[in-house]
Amino acid sequence: MIFIGVGSNLGDRWKAFSDAWQYLLSVGIEVIQSSPIYETYPWGEREQPLYLNAVWQVTTHLSPEALLETLQAIEQSLGRPPSVRPRWGARIIDLDLLAYGAEIRCTPTLTLPHPWIPHRPFVLGPWNDLAPYFYLPPWKATVNELWQRCHSSGWGHRVPPPQGIPLPMTPSKPTQHAGNPSFPPASEPSKPEIQAKLSLCWKKP
Ligand code: AMP
Repeated sequence: MIFIGVGSNLGDRWKAFSDAWQYLLSVGIEVIQSSPIYETYPWGEREQPLYLNAVWQVTTHLSPEALLETLQAIEQSLGRPPSVRPRWGARIIDLDLLAYGAEIRCTPTLTLPHPWIPHRPFVLGPWNDLAPYFYLPPWKATVNELWQRCHSSGWGHRVPPPQGIPLPMTPSKPTQHAGNPSFPPASEPSKPEIQAKLSLCWKKP
C-alpha cells in the first residue's frame, strides 16, 4: 500500500488538490481512496494561511524513487518553486511520499517511511481515518498508535469539499484492516546493522 500526504495553503487550495489528482491520473497513478480533507493550522512557520490536508492511497508501477520524482514534477508544474523558503513556508501544493508498502529507504533524496510522520497531526489525523492499522516499521507502531501518541487538540477540523470540484473518493469507513501487507509486520528489519541504520534516519516520536 502506497500513501501520499497532500497539502495546500496558497491560492485556490481545492483546485490544487483537484489538479494534483488529475495530474496523477494522467501519468497512470491511480488514487484508490482519499482520507477526509482537513483544514489545519500551519506547523513549523506559524504565520501563514491555513492548510488543507489529506492522505491519498495510490497504486503505481513506479519505483519509490520514480514516484517521488513524479510528485516533485507535479508540485513544480502546479506552480511550486523547486525549493520553498522557509522550509515549512506556504505552498500551492505539497506532495510527500509517506510510505511505500514496507519499503525502507534512507538516502539523501528519499527517506521511507517519511521521517516526520510521528510529529505531524495533519498527516496522522487523516491517515488514521483511512488506514489506522497500517504498520510503520521504524517506530514499531501502526498509524493509529502514532496518532494516539501525537494527538494534539486544536490541530484542525474536517471540511466538506465544495460542489463541482472533482476529487478522489473518500470511503465512509476505513477499509485497510484486511489486506494490509505490512500488518502484522512480516518484514520488520531485525539485523543489528539495519536497526543501526534506521536509528540514524528516524527519531522516536
Ligand atoms: P518538502 O519541502 O517538505 O516537500 O521536502 C522535500 C525534500 O525532502 C526533497 O528534497 C526530497 O528529496 C526530500 N524527501 C526525502 N524523503 C522524502 C519523502 N518520503 N517524501 C517527500 N520528500 C522527501
